[in-house]
Amino acid sequence: MASPKRYRSILLFGPPGSGKGTQGKILGSVPGFFHLSVGDVFRSIDIGSQAGQLIYQYTSNGQLVPDELTVQIWKNTLDAYVALSTYKPREDLLVLDGIPRNLAQTELVKDHIDILQVINLSCDDEEDMIRRMRRRAIRENRADDANEEVIRNRFEVFRNISKPVLECYPEEIISTVEAKGSPAEVLRKILTAVIPIQNKHFQTVRELVG
Ligand code: ADP
Repeated sequence: MASPKRYRSILLFGPPGSGKGTQGKILGSVPGFFHLSVGDVFRSIDIGSQAGQLIYQYTSNGQLVPDELTVQIWKNTLDAYVALSTYKPREDLLVLDGIPRNLAQTELVKDHIDILQVINLSCDDEEDMIRRMRRRAIRENRADDANEEVIRNRFEVFRNISKPVLECYPEEIISTVEAKGSPAEVLRKILTAVIPIQNKHFQTVRELVG
């Protein structure tokens, strides 16, 4: 059976510090899900390389990396995981973390992915998210989490540039999940939304295989 043309995906969406990475990693460890974070991919690129230096100029200021470069790196990484069979598009649901992050990216990725469900991690308490990010800065040695001004800038980018992405998807596929609470509590709510999607996906795969 051939791989689907558009990868069936769950989009983890939410402001910085809302737990996309934490929840994505947990979900990605469950059979049938493959998690890819664009932020993690960027941080894994050698900072001494030309691409690494360019990316760092943006990420260290809390700005978005240019769209074409972002989508190209994301797609190349995804293709590499497919080639290695680490990600098996026929079987696995792709857990998107950090992309699309603006309207232009929504257009650029739409031929590659079929978004079945959006998990909208919402949190009104910006100060709580900032506290989480400060802890993350120490734990993960992240330059973009260390500076108050950069953090505020990332929230600004989220509010003005990323949030409109939500309007590109039908309301009925958006599950809003309160991001505050323990990782286990948030995970329980995410699983409630995604388990029926995964069951339906397995059903489709079984029907195609016959
Ligand atoms: P967070 O969601 O907590 O801000 P991420 O690890 O997802 O953290 O992203 C870190 C940084 O990487 C972003 O602030 C941005 O500079 C860059 N980045 C991540 N995803 C994208 C994207 N889709 N487009 C452009 N830049 C991105």
